[in-house]
Amino acid sequence: MANSGQKVVLITGCSSGIGLRIAVTLARDEKKRYHVIATMRDLRKKDKLVEAAGDAFGKTLTLLPLDVCSDESVKSCINSVKDRHIDILINNAGVGLLGPLESISIEEMKRVFETNFFGVVRMIKEVMPDMKKRRSGHIVVMSSVMGLQGVVFNDVYTASKFAMEGFCESMAVQLMKFNVRVSMIEPGPVHTEFETKMMDDVAKMEYPGADADTVRYFKDVYLPSSIDIFEAMGQTPEDIAKCTKKVIE
Ligand code: NDP
Repeated sequence: MANSGQKVVLITGCSSGIGLRIAVTLARDEKKRYHVIATMRDLRKKDKLVEAAGDAFGKTLTLLPLDVCSDESVKSCINSVKDRHIDILINNAGVGLLGPLESISIEEMKRVFETNFFGVVRMIKEVMPDMKKRRSGHIVVMSSVMGLQGVVFNDVYTASKFAMEGFCESMAVQLMKFNVRVSMIEPGPVHTEFETKMMDDVAKMEYPGADADTVRYFKDVYLPSSIDIFEAMGQTPEDIAKCTKKVIE
């Protein structure tokens, strides 16, 4: 349970990557300013987080199950937070989807929007009333450079992040007078399982119906240059965690 003076921070998608590292960085804050509620949809994946949190686990870091695609799970998670009091919500959970539109089913596209867009909407809808009542709060959203710029064969992921950016900009304006801030973080490439999954997807990718020039551009220009950018400029989850800490301080 949080001490008085500690800010309660709830983070989505803490089983790996950026979410895990933000949770650990805040929970191990030298001044113990945060009580972190690290959430993940499958608590059987908690070991990596628990190990990285070390002695912060059970003290400044506790765990709750949360699937951002489920109304029921979101409500039950927020209801189990003492007094529903959350000072800072970090919407980190996200999924990618790479490939030509011709080879992606509408069901797969909906899954991306359910997570990256409606997942954020569900969370904000649930925490916003209490933040407005207390006239205090901060909502942080993990967007992407792909929330600002379209990228070939990343159409649906990009669209989900654009949608989230638009939604959050509107929320920021509406919540300002309640002293509730909304911030977006837009990382470039970060070395996480997200990157590994994308590379696996590329290896298996088929291009039925996609036009030959676009496929050639993707394989011969876009992919090699993305890999170079990743290698030369890819950030670590620690970099993004430090940046997130600055944003909420
Ligand atoms: P990871 O794949 O390592 O982490 C994604 C996290 O989201 C996992 O914990 C995953 O849980 C969780 N998640 C997925 N679906 C749900 C769901 N329905 N409910 C709750 N949690 C869910 O990737 P990253 O750490 O890289 O990604 C984190 C965020 O950063 C994403 O929003 C991504 O779009 C964004 N980002 C990533 C970049 C990169 O290059 N890596 C660049 C820019 C932005 P589970 O283990 O259960 O699947």
